[in-house]
Amino acid sequence: MRNKNNSKKKYRLNKRGKIVLAVLIVIAVALFAVIYSGVLIHEPTISFKEGTATVYMGYSSKLTVQTDPSDEALPDMTWSSSNKDIATVNSAGKVTPVAKGKTTITAKSRKGQKITCAVTVKKPLKTIYLTFDDGPSSNITPKLIKLLKENNVHATFFIVGYEAKENEKLVKEESDNGNCIGIHTYTHDYTQIYASKAAYMSDFNKTKKLLKEITGKTPTVCRMPGGSNNGYCNASLGRSIVKELRSQGFKVTDWEASYGDSTVKPTKASTLAHRAIKEIKWYDSPVILAHDSSEKETSYEATKTLLKYFKKKNYAFSTIDKYKGDPPLFLQMN
Ligand SMILES: [Zn+2]
Repeated sequence: MRNKNNSKKKYRLNKRGKIVLAVLIVIAVALFAVIYSGVLIHEPTISFKEGTATVYMGYSSKLTVQTDPSDEALPDMTWSSSNKDIATVNSAGKVTPVAKGKTTITAKSRKGQKITCAVTVKKPLKTIYLTFDDGPSSNITPKLIKLLKENNVHATFFIVGYEAKENEKLVKEESDNGNCIGIHTYTHDYTQIYASKAAYMSDFNKTKKLLKEITGKTPTVCRMPGGSNNGYCNASLGRSIVKELRSQGFKVTDWEASYGDSTVKPTKASTLAHRAIKEIKWYDSPVILAHDSSEKETSYEATKTLLKYFKKKNYAFSTIDKYKGDPPLFLQMN
């Protein structure tokens, strides 16, 4: 015990030592406070480019902050939304709408600058359901995935099984990027699949199993090759297939608008885009048919035009799994 006491005594500070230590602590705390409060941090003056912004449901939008002097880099900022039920904001200033209404987005710099932007969330005028059949292809699909991602929109891909087997990574990437993966067919052989309901379902289930294996998700949407009313199967067989698919919970969709890109000889991109834009305008929630098989370079080019055109009009893009009710069908079911 005595030894322990002695060793304690050995390290005890005298009065002068205590004063020095206290002064050092005060200096350290003051220094920390100064640095933390941002007094020593250099920052340009920041402001929002626009005082107010309108964002549309289905679109995320990045608010633009400008600096003065303009050539200086943006300081670190923390972001917040006054009403997260209307829109949320991430650490990069990207606003994601949740519901119609108003919210205020605030950005605060470390030095204490605080700027605000009044954001109104509105419903888009129209929702477009872009669908691509017959992919994936190693040349067109990657470009399409990139284009959709850059535009922050999603589409539905109706997959051909034997093509997916060759390009599994592309199907996974489509799915991982938020696009909807639907079943088209495994073989795309009209004579074989429309021989009977059993033949159709056998081909269908093979594709369903493959897509589940690739994406980890069971598909919930499908499109019959040639549409539900085609020259390869009579209406009664068509109806019995649609009934079977619906009874399994699938949304079966044909289309309303089309690029008109089913021809063997490629059509000029401007012609495809012109037709698609014209037909999309006829419907409230158009489901539009296009293709991303290997020979459809002009369909990809037309998609670029179409996205640019409709994004400017603040139309939204969505996927068939989110379609309210039954999507369009050529066959009369009753
Ligand atoms: Zn097809």
